[in-house]
Amino acid sequence: MFSGGDTVKTIYNLPTYNKDKRLSLFDIYKSYSEINKNYWIKNILNISKIKYEKKEFSYFINTFRTKKKGKALWLIAGIHGEEPAGPNAISKNIEYINKLGKKIPIVLLPLCNPIGYMKNWRYPYSKTIQKDKEPKSVGDSEHCLIDLKDTRKPRRNNPILKESELITKFVLKQVKDYPPLLVLDLHEDDSVSDSYIFSQGFLRHKDPIAKEIIKLLRKRKFRIKKFGFTSFKQKIVNGIVTNVKDDSIDELLSTYRLIINKSIKKGPQGKSVVVVETNSKKIKLKKRVTAHSYIIKNLLKYYNITKKIKS
Ligand SMILES: [Zn+2]
Repeated sequence: MFSGGDTVKTIYNLPTYNKDKRLSLFDIYKSYSEINKNYWIKNILNISKIKYEKKEFSYFINTFRTKKKGKALWLIAGIHGEEPAGPNAISKNIEYINKLGKKIPIVLLPLCNPIGYMKNWRYPYSKTIQKDKEPKSVGDSEHCLIDLKDTRKPRRNNPILKESELITKFVLKQVKDYPPLLVLDLHEDDSVSDSYIFSQGFLRHKDPIAKEIIKLLRKRKFRIKKFGFTSFKQKIVNGIVTNVKDDSIDELLSTYRLIINKSIKKGPQGKSVVVVETNSKKIKLKKRVTAHSYIIKNLLKYYNITKKIKS
């Protein structure tokens, strides 16, 4: 089932944090074996020789893309390990995602940070954001994003983690055959009492998908934080945060220009790049997974809406 991983010692049989009754890492990976090989191509990103509880382990991050190429839906989840709703919703909706893959081009990154997920840690190698230390996120693409002060330079010279290097590389390789029309990155936030949405594409506050998802979350009885700030001091207007330079894979997928080996290249320019942040404070995982499942079941509708937007 876990073919392709280095077999020194793998992480998949280690116990997964389960106080919130999330699916085990084993069951999450098992669900991916149901992805229909007739319509989907699997690529694994191999991470070897990581230290975990003083032992050496290896593991891999799963990626999938449809055989059907073209303007694509990108579905991303599990960047932060303490935000399990997205990865659980994807695993519970494999059958639906299979069907969707027959209809439209899709790139799927269903669990970007398996180590963090297993431990309920935000990052693979640190539990939370640490004071005076750089957050080392698997979803960091700074090494390919242009420095905000000096446009001849990337924001950092080298990838922050092996994981972020491989994920960024995978993204930049696939955007050629699967230009991002709609990107949905499923996150959660336990630091605020209400939910909100990031819109990273050029549509900003007018992004109809951001509005649709806010509507859906309201219907699922999630309160929306209409105005105010996120815990990272980003301004929220009508439930939406825009124009964020957060060094993330989402910024990468929406950017117009990026930098590779010191040369400036055209960016992926995702039309609608939406990051969902359901509030996870005092809300049971089951309810959050249900909300994310509803988002997944609306993906074809969202894709078609995005397709009609004039650029
Ligand atoms: Zn997050």
